[in-house]
Amino acid sequence: MLRGGRPRATPYLPGMSRRAAREVRYAGASLDRAADRRSDAEWIAAMAADPRARVLPIWRDKNLVANLVANLGGPDGAGGTGAAPIGAPSDASPHAGPPAGPRAGAWAGPPLSVDDRDGRALTFLGIDATGPVFAADVSHLEGTALAAGAAGGTFLDLRHAGPLVDAHDAALMAFARAITGWHRRARYCGVCGAATESRQGGHMRRCRDASCGAELFPRTDPAVIMLVEHPADTARDARCLLAHHNRLPPRSYTTLAGFVEPGETLEQAVAREVLEETGVRIAQATYLGSQPWPFPHSLMIGFRAVAEAGTSDAITVDRAELEDARWFTATELDRFGEWGDTTAEYQLPRRDSIARMLVEAWRAEHAEGVRPRRRRARSSRSP
Ligand SMILES: [Zn+2]
Repeated sequence: MLRGGRPRATPYLPGMSRRAAREVRYAGASLDRAADRRSDAEWIAAMAADPRARVLPIWRDKNLVANLVANLGGPDGAGGTGAAPIGAPSDASPHAGPPAGPRAGAWAGPPLSVDDRDGRALTFLGIDATGPVFAADVSHLEGTALAAGAAGGTFLDLRHAGPLVDAHDAALMAFARAITGWHRRARYCGVCGAATESRQGGHMRRCRDASCGAELFPRTDPAVIMLVEHPADTARDARCLLAHHNRLPPRSYTTLAGFVEPGETLEQAVAREVLEETGVRIAQATYLGSQPWPFPHSLMIGFRAVAEAGTSDAITVDRAELEDARWFTATELDRFGEWGDTTAEYQLPRRDSIARMLVEAWRAEHAEGVRPRRRRARSSRSP
């Protein structure tokens, strides 16, 4: 997977510890998906009836977070935006000792219908150490019914909740968000337009028109995300290419990214996106790792790319995509502030993103005091 004689002790991203690699946000669930049992409707029903079963509700694309109120704060704290407090605040007793951290909230009732004609199928996620885990869309509920089910929890956008909960819960919540979003978008058959219905514990939808019978499966959209490096030469330190686009907070810079198009390899998508967005041609792209990104249902596929030998400092920014793109040295990255630090001249990418891991790994490799890894100019190879 990793080329160029990099040490085997860094299996995920160069410069990244094994522990950090295990904690890729939205990918760390210890979950038996039991994919071989999903088509057994009786078994799924038994799982749902299990007293240990819990349902992770999604309300209008927001996840339920329990024990949140006493735990807000920090640069990634919810801070108000996107939060939709439901019902009473956390019921943590002041006499019960320090509250546990925020966690994935489970539906507390009323019982959820499994009628999925509105795309609200009860979906089996798997079995974790606690028991069977399901996801359900409760977007149709409001008022007291919603408050009763939330049991003091808060419906929060996963972009805010993800960094607050542990890796297991973040991954379950991402799974729940992505698959309920798919159900909602797949209510009608793309072949004949008839309604569809949930099957296989919520992992397939079938067209209700018997003459059609098309089967729809949850979709994942592949997107490449890449840190482009301008290698060191005799005159300059190595630099990496980061960009600011207008969907980001002011002065925050991140790696380039884009969706893979039909008929492309991942490496070709990397080269095309970098060229389109910045005019920089790359000589090589090396896969480093991936991250589920349930906004709404992407898989971010991370690369380190190397700019072609002789690449100039000039960047041709595609203004339709980006507001700015620049080369930064590791020393310049050291002066970046945390995501959300509006006083900083530049901000790092979100802490829960693979973009941040790509940047941190590159910075660790090129930090002052680290023996520079003199990359010899490689023969130009088209990715
Ligand atoms: Zn159909």
